[in-house]
Amino acid sequence: MSRKQAFQFLDLPRTMPQRIPVELRTSGDWGELYGKFGKEDAQFQAGRCLDCGNPYCSWKCPVHNAIPQWLQLVQENRIHEAATLCHSTNPLPEVCGRVCPQDRLCEGSCTLEEFGAVTIGAVEKYIVDTALATGWRPDMSAVEATGKRVAVIGAGPAGLACADKLAHAGVQAVVYDRYEQIGGLLQFGIPSFKLDKSVISRRRNVLEGMGVQFRLGVEIGRDVSIDALLAEYDAVFVGTGAYRYTDGGLLGQDLKGVLPALPFLVQNSRIVSGSDAHGRPIAGWEDQIALPDLEGKRVVVLGGGDTGMDCVRSAIRLGAAKVTCAYRRDEANMPGSAREVANAREEGVRFLFNRQPLSIEAGADDEVIGVMVVETHLDEPDAQGRRNAVPIAGSESLLEADVVIIAFGFSPSAPGWLTEQGVEAGNNGRIVAGGSGRLPFQTAHPRLFAGGDAVRGADLVVTAVAEGRDAAGSIVQLLSA
Ligand code: FAD
Ligand code: SF4
Repeated sequence: MSRKQAFQFLDLPRTMPQRIPVELRTSGDWGELYGKFGKEDAQFQAGRCLDCGNPYCSWKCPVHNAIPQWLQLVQENRIHEAATLCHSTNPLPEVCGRVCPQDRLCEGSCTLEEFGAVTIGAVEKYIVDTALATGWRPDMSAVEATGKRVAVIGAGPAGLACADKLAHAGVQAVVYDRYEQIGGLLQFGIPSFKLDKSVISRRRNVLEGMGVQFRLGVEIGRDVSIDALLAEYDAVFVGTGAYRYTDGGLLGQDLKGVLPALPFLVQNSRIVSGSDAHGRPIAGWEDQIALPDLEGKRVVVLGGGDTGMDCVRSAIRLGAAKVTCAYRRDEANMPGSAREVANAREEGVRFLFNRQPLSIEAGADDEVIGVMVVETHLDEPDAQGRRNAVPIAGSESLLEADVVIIAFGFSPSAPGWLTEQGVEAGNNGRIVAGGSGRLPFQTAHPRLFAGGDAVRGADLVVTAVAEGRDAAGSIVQLLSA
């Protein structure tokens, strides 16, 4: 590498692709916020990589992408080879390039941080979008069919990653999902301004081209039993996600005008993407998915995580007059990605930190009038460095609202049809997989494997992908024994 190339980062600043202007975002544009790099921009940004010799970016990436190597291939305009390399560690690279919290993962570990990290996610998206648009597809020519068949329950990132790796190993993967589309939370949780839904349909075509089969609109435990799957397939992977929402136990949370975050986002995604708005609702929430008209309303979102950020930004696009996010700790202790908080602020969201909700208040006609909150201060950090919010007596006030969205987070809930097979469930509802005497991600039932949010608790797309792939590795090992 020449000196000029090595110090490119000094002359060329870090840039992200252009964003949709804020006026459009606040007037109901659901398009992906970030545009795409052109060839020149991608090459310049890739050329900022120092090739520092200690690729912390790769170590911090949960699937250990070969980042410096594919950045080099982009500089040389060898996009199809770059796409092959991206897919060797991650079957959904165009998704991760869009939705990973890069500031906490690869880019947060870039040696250049002080000068502006290399825009790894945007280049990853450029590679895969460009390769797929120009005819690149995974090369399956050397794959030999083993005659083995595996059922995958859940078409979220964990299930898709598992199916992809099984297909590469010559195992027939058949993916079941209760929803009418693949993607899990990619399709129905993450709003289209972060991930356009055409990205998921395109990936479905790629997977089907590799021989993966989908059986959609089929709920295991209701439409098909686990016994039937165990009888028909050599092994089963369970990637059913985390859908039990954290109940804050707030007085008034059952009032009309109070919505749990996920049904709000799911129903909205269905409407925005034009899919069947009356499709199958999330089990247990059947009566709560009617989407209220937010036009001109005052909306308060409770919770400061990424789901909360998706809710506030969706409410803005739905025409709410005033959107407020109330969070019980301060900004520095907020779990949501700093990039998403900045985007939300730019779109007009107001943040109220150090406010703990006490109750949701109703007027004479039982309509929501607001959230009673109390101010908090943070106590000393505990052993994990977490600081608890302590209410300040006498600081209660009413935060006026017409609609309240509760986004306190989710946890898994191991289904009964699984525990009846001898699979253990942890106290926190997680499926217990792996551990001593077992293959990684193998449960107490030798032919049942599990991974993703259902095992680790609500986390990230890329960690679900990593687990789905690793579980597929274990399944192949079992089936080859
Ligand atoms: P899921 O994606 O939940 O998929 C599980 C699938 O299993 C679903 O399709 C479900 O229908 C299906 N299923 C469940 N039970 C059955 C059954 N009995 N029969 C058939 N099918 C069944 N992560 C990021 O990295 N970046 C983000 O920006 C981001 N934003 C998020 C925003 C929201 C609102 C939420 C809720 C999460 C977000 N996440 C984000 C987290 C991420 O989406 C999840 O960690 C990831 O999707 C988990 O993948 P999974 O495959 O384990 O589960
Ligand atoms: Fe970064 Fe996520 Fe891509 Fe890994 S998968 S390189 S963490 S954007």
